[in-house]
Amino acid sequence: NPILEIRNLHARIEDREILKGVNLAIPAGELHAVMGRNGSGKSTLSYVLAGKEDYEITEGEVLLDGVDLLGMEPNERAAAGLFLAFQYPIEIPGVATMTFLKAAMNAQRKSRGEGEISTPDFMRAVKEAGASLNIDASMLKRPLNVGFSGGEKKRAEVLQMALLAPKMCILDETDSGLDIDALQVVSKGVNALRSEQRSMLVITHYQRLLNHIVPDVVHVFSDGRIVESGDKSLALQLEAKGYADFDSEPA
Ligand code: ADP
Ligand code: MG
Ligand code: MG
Repeated sequence: NPILEIRNLHARIEDREILKGVNLAIPAGELHAVMGRNGSGKSTLSYVLAGKEDYEITEGEVLLDGVDLLGMEPNERAAAGLFLAFQYPIEIPGVATMTFLKAAMNAQRKSRGEGEISTPDFMRAVKEAGASLNIDASMLKRPLNVGFSGGEKKRAEVLQMALLAPKMCILDETDSGLDIDALQVVSKGVNALRSEQRSMLVITHYQRLLNHIVPDVVHVFSDGRIVESGDKSLALQLEAKGYADFDSEPA
């Protein structure tokens, strides 16, 4: 049974159709990559899955572990086990990263009818999850993402993911990529979260990332839909030959 199933998804913004029939199924335990040129609609897909306003869904459906996702509010989607890391992380001035993380965990617990996490339990969880990500106490005292380097933002994101333990993780990666140290820390963090119960979708056009986070399946995204799927060698083929070969593929 797929954790995420997208069927013939069409979405538009301001009368312009961006998603033109996306089909994608990710079984439990698998990590899939979506690659595609700039402007092809990859981030739009992640926004639509997150439930961001502005997008009109005109056709299709999305199931999260068999349950209709598009009818849920954004917070309900998170409670149902969806986690999205965006290409441009939100800065939250005035709120320490630590406070933000605890609030995120408590929101999730509340939606599941559980009480608030105790401070010692929270500190233990953060320490455990943060250690392998090279996240120290001083970083956690700073406001989330404000003045964070690209690498720090990514590490904070993976920490959040580890604490929330979602069943479906979607990561929309920056176009420019991370420096090699940050890349390794983030990849290690993501790989540590791979499990039989969890599925992941990594959106990127940065082939090198996929040397570190090795996908089970690679999909090529072009003009609002997936036009080709294959194993990890497809990413190498894209790197060598570019996207032009895939542009004229029929849907
Ligand atoms: P990608 O992530 O693959 O680079 P995006 O999903 O960001 O692509 O963008 C897909 C297309 O949608 C682009 O042509 C972009 O200009 C357009 N687009 C994105 N956001 C808006 C918006 N708010 N209004 C109009 N067009 C938009
Ligand atoms: Mg882009
Ligand atoms: Mg994008």
